[in-house]
Amino acid sequence: MPTEATFVLAAILIVFAGLGWAYDRLSRERDNAPPPGINADYFRGLNLVLNRKTDEALELFIQLAKVDDETLETHFALGHLFRRRGEVDRAIRVHQNLLARPSLSEAQRHQALFALAEDYLGAGLFDRAETLFSELKSSETLAQQALEKLIDIYEREKEWEKAIEAQHLLERRTGERSPRVSHYHCELAEEARLRGDTAAAREQLRHAASTESGRLRASLIGAAIAKSEQRHAEAIKLYEQVIESDRRLIAEVLPDLLECHERAGPSGIERFDAYVARLAEKQPELERELAYAAIVGELVQSKTLARCIESFVLSNEILANLVDVDELRGADPARRERAVRRIATALRRLALASARYRCTNCGYSSRRLIWHCPSCKQWETVRPIQGINLEALVP
Ligand SMILES: [Zn+2]
Repeated sequence: MPTEATFVLAAILIVFAGLGWAYDRLSRERDNAPPPGINADYFRGLNLVLNRKTDEALELFIQLAKVDDETLETHFALGHLFRRRGEVDRAIRVHQNLLARPSLSEAQRHQALFALAEDYLGAGLFDRAETLFSELKSSETLAQQALEKLIDIYEREKEWEKAIEAQHLLERRTGERSPRVSHYHCELAEEARLRGDTAAAREQLRHAASTESGRLRASLIGAAIAKSEQRHAEAIKLYEQVIESDRRLIAEVLPDLLECHERAGPSGIERFDAYVARLAEKQPELERELAYAAIVGELVQSKTLARCIESFVLSNEILANLVDVDELRGADPARRERAVRRIATALRRLALASARYRCTNCGYSSRRLIWHCPSCKQWETVRPIQGINLEALVP
């Protein structure tokens, strides 16, 4: 929401624009050019703005624009002020009034078009904003900013094909590549996968794999496609690739990996267990992540994962005080298994009661993995938290 400070700042901006204009007028006066005699009107307009008599100010400035092109910057400042205060209708009137003037140079017309498009964005009129920003795609002065705005609109509207096209145009201008394009292809792949068009999904994944983050997400989507098509070996390979690339996704992937092993044939749990054991042996520091994955994914049937949970519980001061340590350390395997299951169920409830993912940029939290933060609109900033709020256990 616009604040009082915004209002004052914008008003100051207008005053400075006005002073520049007045200085220019006075200079001309000294050079014997006849002053047109609108200084009084001009400052009356500023006074109206400062006193929040916005309708009167608007009418006055629109009249002034008819008198003199040099009030152009003041008009932009006034339009900006209205938009920042949420008075989008007034901002639109200011900018439409400017565009109606035939005397504008091309750069000035583009500036007015851009400002009007921003007004439409502010009013939620995305179609109109898109049309105007599209007109500026080849503008010498504003093409880059217009393309960035268009990409924002396409992301918001989930028009991924158009977003890809605009991003390519932007890259051609700036020479900088963005991983966003890979995500657009992944979004299209997900859409195709969900409507059952796996050929189209695979084609999009081929494009997505052009960046590192695209490869990771493409592996995840590719694994889901292979799993749904009963191609278990391929799915297993892709899930293992995801774990190797980013260990923070272990909890996301392990339940599907176990399911693929179980569907692939007899002794699925043993093969899964052997894989997890190799992983834990190679990277002992993964024990905590594996325990967390086993707890939230209900994977205690794996012996290796059950051991990870035991070790996690016994190494934690709060948990070790709350459980029967003798039962967990006892020799009776059936009793130990029951104890692990009981603890895992309680911890799972605790883990699922709070957010599992959080945006590292804005703090937005979510219960599921998302690639595009709905709050700050950044890509790949939402990461797994992988923590259980044990403090909630302590009264
Ligand atoms: Zn965010």
